[in-house]
Order: sequence, then C-alpha cells, then structure tokens
Amino acid sequence: MSVVNLLEFDLDGLTAFCEQLGEKRFRATQLFRWIHHKGATDFAQMSDLAKSLREKLAGVAEIKPLPLASEQASADGTIKWLFDVGAGDAVETVFIPEDERGTLCISSQAGCAVGCRFCSTGHQGFSRNLSTGEIVAQLWFAEHHLRKRLSLREGERAIDNVVMMGMGEPLQNYSALVPALRTMLDDHGYGLSRRRVTVSTSGVVPMIDRLRDDCPVALAVSLHAPNDALRDPLVPLNKKYPIDELLDACNRYLDAAPRDFITFEYCMLDGVNDQPEHARELVALLKHRVACKLNLIPFNPFPASGLKRSPRERVTAFAKILQDAGIVTTVRKTRGDDIDAACGQLAGEVQDRTNAATRMTRAPIRIHPQ
Ligand code: SAH
Ligand code: SF4
Repeated sequence: MSVVNLLEFDLDGLTAFCEQLGEKRFRATQLFRWIHHKGATDFAQMSDLAKSLREKLAGVAEIKPLPLASEQASADGTIKWLFDVGAGDAVETVFIPEDERGTLCISSQAGCAVGCRFCSTGHQGFSRNLSTGEIVAQLWFAEHHLRKRLSLREGERAIDNVVMMGMGEPLQNYSALVPALRTMLDDHGYGLSRRRVTVSTSGVVPMIDRLRDDCPVALAVSLHAPNDALRDPLVPLNKKYPIDELLDACNRYLDAAPRDFITFEYCMLDGVNDQPEHARELVALLKHRVACKLNLIPFNPFPASGLKRSPRERVTAFAKILQDAGIVTTVRKTRGDDIDAACGQLAGEVQDRTNAATRMTRAPIRIHPQ
C-alpha cells in the first residue's frame, strides 16, 4: 500500500479509509479533528488514538502540507503565499484581513484553461488540476499558521471566509473541488457556513447544476459583459455557454443556494465594458431575471494584458446607474496590489525560487482588533 496523504479526504473519504484499516467510524472523526482542528502532522501527537492505530497509520498514511516557496506581505496586511506544486508549477493563496474577519482566496488549478483576456492566470495557460489535498492544504496551512502568528486564543479561528477566486476555474476541477468544499464545511473540519464559502465561476453551466445538487455554497459568477458579443472575446467560455443559458443556470442554483442572490462579478475595463449604455443593458438583462448583487472589480493590470483600469469616476457612474435601478452594487476594494495579490494578478511564477527564503517578509497584521 502506498502512503496516502490524509488531506486528500473529506470525512466520508477518511471514514472509508479507516474502515479499510479495520477501524471504527468514530476513529476517522477523531483523526479528522486532529488534522483540521488542531493542524497536527504527526500521528504520535494524537493522544486519544490507540498506540496501535497510530503506528498503523504511520506506515500507510501521512499529513503532507504543500511546500511553501515564498511569502509576501502587503502594506495593507494582505499576505500572499506561493506554494510549489511540483514540475515547475506553483499556485498562490491570498489572505485578506478585514476588521472582523479574515478571508482566504484559494486556487483550484495551476493555470487556467478558460483564457480570459483580462486575467493573468488565463494568459499563463493551463498546467494541471490541483488535487483535493492540494486545495485543502492551502486552508490548512493558512489557518494553522495564522493562529500562531496572530496569537489567537483557543477556539478562535483565523479564516472565517473562503473564496475560490485564486488561480483556476474551480468548476473545471469539479471532482477535486467538492470533497475540498465538504472539508471546509464540516464541523469536524473548518466548520464554515455555506454562506461563507464562495465558488466563483466563469460560467460552466452543467457544473453549476451539479454543485447545486452536491454541495450548494455561495455562488459568484464572472459576468463582465451585458451581451454575448462583448462577453465572447473577454470570457471565451461564453461561446459554449452563452449568457442566456448562464442566467437560467443561476436561477436554478438559487433554489438550493445558501444565499438568496447570486453575486455577479464585473471587471471594469477602460473603454471596453464600462460605458453608461453597458450599465443600462445590464439592468435590462438582470433586473427581472435573476436575484443578484453586482460586484464591480477595478481591473488589476498586469504586463501583456494591453488593457487599462477604468477611471474611478466611470466606475462610480456605472455603479450609480445600477443602484438607481434597484440592483445592489458594490465596488470591490483593491487589496494587495503592491504584491500582485489582487484579483487576476495571480500567475504562480516561481521566479527566484532559490531566493525564496530571503524573500519572506513579515508585516504586522491584525484581524481581530481587541
Ligand atoms: N475562474 C474563476 C475564479 C478565479 S478568478 C472565475 O473566473 O470566476 C476570480 C475573479 O477575479 C473573477 O471574477 C475574475 O473575473 C476576476 N479577475 C480576473 N482577472 C482580473 C483582473 N486582472 N483584474 C480584476 N479582476 C480580475
Ligand atoms: Fe480562468 Fe477565472 Fe482567470 Fe478566466 S478569470 S482565465 S476563468 S481564472
């Protein structure tokens, strides 16, 4: 039997694994809690498991985090970690501290096959899907690292919000995604509520339906344009699943969603999709069609995009048209752009890997002001 990384399992998976070893179900729960509640990596530490079981586990299993390649901290407290996933690939995870909570932005793939025009990950192309364990390892690391770093009290948690908005299209890595989401939601895992776990998708319609049936969490849909002619070149997946089909899928999703709205993300690109007529077209498209909120994202530039961020006044004017029409609209605050950690800037480059240790920086961060 080869050695299995237990981060790959949700609780059902771990239970099946323990049963194969001839162990009772409740042992799996204990083990799961050691891994995810306590951040243990050493079976010898797991004092309430029988010594014989600990020894058995040590021969067949491990708890293997992702190797950290570098860490950068932004002046605004945002932290970006780069993890080495082998074969020259790396993925990024971003921690965004807010006053009362901490959000973790997690990657689902090394690269992305969708190839959106305005996205640095998309420009990079697709390398491979992450496994469930590699997705969970990002949360496992951040939660347990930050608890120590922030000197949190027993029972306090560092991450109370997860967004699948890092590198990759989560719904194109569905089979690995779902057990990872279940681990996030599980009370014996991270105990996050469904409302506080968000999957963001560029619109993989059949998988939106499957997610509704298998594991409904909050859904964000990257819309970026009010019509197919404009969306096709920005989000190439639109040619396969055009806006009309996408909005139908959103409505079906709402039947099971933990929130009574879908969040539409709209990246504001100077002179491309940011005109008042685009805002009016959006109103006409969405108003009586889908219960939704709009989140306008100022475009985060990266070399080679050839695109520019819309000026602030244009974003404000665009937001006003939507708000006046009764659509709740927010403008996303740009976080961590000084370390290329903002939306769409994640490229997972492993430049200067040799200097990774010296590039580690430390900045004071606080998430729970006392
Ligand atoms: N693949 C998924 C999730 C990852 S991208 C998706 O596309 O939804 C997360 C969000 O960042 C998406 O809304 C995406 O459109 C947005 N984004 C991508 N590139 C961006 C950029 N350069 N500036 C601002 N937002 C960007
Ligand atoms: Fe992929 Fe999302 Fe980037 Fe589009 S925006 S290329 S779907 S990661």
